[in-house]
Amino acid sequence: MGNVRGFLDFKKANNQKIAPNERVKNFKEFIKPLDKKEREIQAGRCMDCGVAFCHTGKMSEGKDIGCPLNNLIPEWNDLLYRSLWEEAFKRLELTNPFPEFTGRVCPAPCEDSCVCAINGESVSIKDNELALAENAFKEGFITPLKPQKYHGKKIAIIGSGPAGLACAYSLNLLGYKVSVYERSDKAGGLLMYGIPDMKLEKSVVQRRIALLEKSGVEFKLNQNINSKEKANKLLKEFDALILCTGASEPNTLNIKGKDLNGVKFAMDFLSENTKSLLKNSKPATTAKGKNVLVIGSGDTSVDCIAVALRQGAKSITRFERSPKKSELRSKDNPWPLKADIFTTDYGLEEARAVYQKDVREYQKLTKEFVGKDKLEGVLASDLKRENGKNVEIKGSEKLYKADLVLLAMGFSGSEKAISVNFGVKFDTKNNIATTNYQSSHEKIFSCGDARTGQSLVVWAIKDGLKCALRVHKELSGE
Ligand SMILES: Cc1cc2nc3c(=O)[nH]c(=O)nc-3n(C[C@H](O)[C@H](O)[C@H](O)COP(=O)(O)OP(=O)(O)OC[C@H]3O[C@@H](n4cnc5c(N)ncnc54)[C@H](O)[C@@H]3O)c2cc1C
Ligand code: SF4
Repeated sequence: MGNVRGFLDFKKANNQKIAPNERVKNFKEFIKPLDKKEREIQAGRCMDCGVAFCHTGKMSEGKDIGCPLNNLIPEWNDLLYRSLWEEAFKRLELTNPFPEFTGRVCPAPCEDSCVCAINGESVSIKDNELALAENAFKEGFITPLKPQKYHGKKIAIIGSGPAGLACAYSLNLLGYKVSVYERSDKAGGLLMYGIPDMKLEKSVVQRRIALLEKSGVEFKLNQNINSKEKANKLLKEFDALILCTGASEPNTLNIKGKDLNGVKFAMDFLSENTKSLLKNSKPATTAKGKNVLVIGSGDTSVDCIAVALRQGAKSITRFERSPKKSELRSKDNPWPLKADIFTTDYGLEEARAVYQKDVREYQKLTKEFVGKDKLEGVLASDLKRENGKNVEIKGSEKLYKADLVLLAMGFSGSEKAISVNFGVKFDTKNNIATTNYQSSHEKIFSCGDARTGQSLVVWAIKDGLKCALRVHKELSGE
């Protein structure tokens, strides 16, 4: 280990960001990377602590501990510190086939589990990962990876999100002819039509798809496998089918006025905007000049706020049912678990800069969407916590002006049609039921959000890689 004082001598430095007021003027990514020397110094803060938790990749009480992909973080940090960029990248690529995605969008549970984070600032793992990935593309360290030979077996993957891509990457290398069927006009799943450009420019997704194509993976776009006939045809043609269809059934609010013009699902709003940007380099105008109310508190709600801002919303408010979180870990959420604390993600930071206030309203119960032909407002009341439950405060009802509501309340599992068309059973949470990645149909496997429910890109990649090995074992007997 080259650097013996690491984090004692150097402070954490993340990539710089373009100021919120400036970056809301366009839909481009807004990070400004550190230069290579500064990045090496950051890697030198990692001390190979010997009891590293950053790469544990476990879940405890619904919270991540360390990197789900088990990235060999101390090892590539040491190589990077010693300016061995190519060697460091090769070490990273051993466990993570798509570090350019995770380096941009991963919430980095690794950093919360870093030993330095117990009473100080973690190593900047995520930014180091992105620097290694982008440098590798620039320097030509990343090239199409082909198998030595194809042995004749064929696999159809349905869905081209991160799980499908990871599965395709791995099975292609194992010598299977892989065809990926995707109902959209572009591959990438939520990487393409969910996560907005500011977090992940679409050229980055397309760059990876092009590499996979050159590696031998075939993408069949605009192919919705939405009938028994289509599913049966694939079952006859291929040795195995893998469902990587995501968890796209959105949660909704079954309250009065839910069908009013102006009440919209977050995913429709986000994908329309990305499609418009890809088609004519201009955003959609759904939120322009509107009073926007976003309901929900996860990543999707933050993305909605960021997109609505850039479209020129007049005002934005976000309702969440939970109370405001504490800025410190609670005793039920100790290190090395992913910290469950108050944070201000990028879209919220931008909204604060533009509207000069925090747009979050806590403990709100949405009761009715009000309007005649179209939405005019939202009736909501306040909640309080009583014996661990949310209880409505009587008489607190208030009308909030809104002409666009975006429902960003998560997803309730797979679309029912998947079960009917492919003849696979669902579990109690509406996800595809699997035993070791195999569904109730012996020739059909599943991974990613379709199997686990709504999760993260990093978990989808992990699930895709593991599923590929399981399918290989089944088909090869190895
Ligand atoms: C708005 C939003 C923002 C997010 N932001 C982040 C983030 O910042 N960081 C993070 O880690 N995670 C984020 N997530 C979660 C992450 O995107 C998902 O966990 C991940 O994409 C799941 O990958 P997947 O491959 O399982 O499914 P998906 O990415 O959902 O891909 C499924 C694909 O299957 C296709 N498909 C479905 N049915 C069929 C069919 N019958 N025939 C053909 N094709 C079909 C779909 O069109 C889609 O392309 C976000 C999610 C959303 C909704
Ligand atoms: S993939 Fe995510 S958790 Fe793993 S090292 Fe990268 S940022 Fe950390």
